[in-house]
Amino acid sequence: MAARVVKALCIGCGACTHMCPSGAITVKANQAHIDSAKCDECEECIFACPNGAIII
Ligand code: SF4
Ligand code: SF4
Repeated sequence: MAARVVKALCIGCGACTHMCPSGAITVKANQAHIDSAKCDECEECIFACPNGAIII
């Protein structure tokens, strides 16, 4: 399972995009989106998110 964003918790800060080594995360309209085809489940984004908005 790829990481996914809990929309209600994401504030679009972009912290996760910088941490993803696979370039799987983009932020648009204050919401992060994860491309599941690119995600390798490294979990870096989970630790990067200040709101706990990413889960695997
Ligand atoms: S788990 Fe890793 S590869 Fe997947 S979106 Fe998060 S930082 Fe990127
Ligand atoms: S770090 Fe968390 S709150 Fe910020 S854009 Fe990513 S998922 Fe959203």
